[in-house]
Amino acid sequence: MTVAAPPYELVIGIETHVELKTESKMFCGCRARWFGAPPNTLVCPVCLGLPGALPVPNRRAIELAINAGLALHCTQPEHTKFDRKNYLYPDLPKGYQISQYDLPLNVKGWLELPSGKRVGITRAHLEEDTGTLKHGEDAGRKYTLVDFNRSGVPLLEIVSEPDMSSAEEGEQYVRALRDVLIYAGVSDVRLEEGAGRFDVNVSIRFSEDGKTAWPPQSEIKNLNSYQALRDAVAYESRRLWEDWQAGGELRTRSGKITVGWSPDRRRTYLQRTKEEVEDYRYFPEPDLVALAPDRTMVENLRASLPEMPADRRARFIEHLGLSDYDARNLLADPALAEFFEATIKLEPANPKAAANWVLGEISAALKRDGIALRDARITPEHVAELIRMVDAGRISITAAKAVFAQLWKDGGDPEAIVNTMGLAQVSDEAALAEVVDLVLKEDAKAVASYRAGNDRALGALVGAVMKRLGKKANPVVVNRILRQRIG
Ligand SMILES: [Zn+2]
Repeated sequence: MTVAAPPYELVIGIETHVELKTESKMFCGCRARWFGAPPNTLVCPVCLGLPGALPVPNRRAIELAINAGLALHCTQPEHTKFDRKNYLYPDLPKGYQISQYDLPLNVKGWLELPSGKRVGITRAHLEEDTGTLKHGEDAGRKYTLVDFNRSGVPLLEIVSEPDMSSAEEGEQYVRALRDVLIYAGVSDVRLEEGAGRFDVNVSIRFSEDGKTAWPPQSEIKNLNSYQALRDAVAYESRRLWEDWQAGGELRTRSGKITVGWSPDRRRTYLQRTKEEVEDYRYFPEPDLVALAPDRTMVENLRASLPEMPADRRARFIEHLGLSDYDARNLLADPALAEFFEATIKLEPANPKAAANWVLGEISAALKRDGIALRDARITPEHVAELIRMVDAGRISITAAKAVFAQLWKDGGDPEAIVNTMGLAQVSDEAALAEVVDLVLKEDAKAVASYRAGNDRALGALVGAVMKRLGKKANPVVVNRILRQRIG
């Protein structure tokens, strides 16, 4: 089945919220890793919003937020501040959220997608997370419980420009953003714990009666998986188009609406229309002084930032000669990428072989045993040694895999295993030639067939030599001697 292109252009911008990787919360000393803790055990007067409690900014959170901005090629204005965003909701104990309104920490950056396209970053600012609500029902009575453990956890909001034009591109953007934030050490972006959420602004643009029509957008709130993002964008853009065609409310609406996504019903539902959008009455947070990030601090942070995934991928491909596919697979798992880097540092001559070991034998063994690489016995030293031995013709790749299996199981010294298992190849030409001559004498038919132009006969002769010598014969040398003798 082919899917026709939709009769409209899709325009997408994404606001991403991620929890920062700090020990403590944004404005108090409570533990920030709230997920899984018993309800309301990580709280204090500050994050409970009790009267008279005063916030103290978390320096580490500010540094991490700046790191994120640097990794996203943003600039850091000299003057920034915190503001109060006022609204009333059961999970917001103070009745306002401390955020940044008109002077964010980071502005005007970009993020490169794997396609090479750059998506603009409008801003990235700091704020605090809310508590969580748990809805339930007991004997027919509905209830809601509130847990303030998450209240006050540092949150970074990253706002993109409306530069994406398909759900796939939106997904590429959030995946690339997640990689950058993890690499920069800013956040673990644990989507499954709600520690990374996306608000997606969706609008459609098309031409009608010779004019460009660009009706108001829908903002889909709080998506927390790639699947939800794909499905919700596809649903909402189609809904907007159909509503317009049917002469629905989109034709008269002047502002954007906010919708939620129900994964179960696979549809969006209306949350707020323009008329109901609260006036947040932002004003500068009176309990905090204005924030002026020190230039030296910003430059020090820039200098200590690790290499970003896009740069690393380019280095793997351009300088190390890896395929795009291998580079991507290595980058997808920081532990594998680190192992690979450590291996090529020890054995720089053959990066492709190192990638093959890491993505082949090692990945397969990790998957099979269900363990993490840090818990495995295999080391970069082992793999570097295996590569050296294969490249020097000392052992065959088949033998190397046997040594690997042994190292994986019990660790040890590759050289000693080669000797114990008797896997060293016979590359000694005189010894090989002796066996070659024997085989040639025995199989005159194959020799005649090869001379008559049947190349495959050579394979049978190589096989016969290998059979006599076991896995130890170096097939490259055997091949060469055979050709010399009968060619
Ligand atoms: Zn607290």
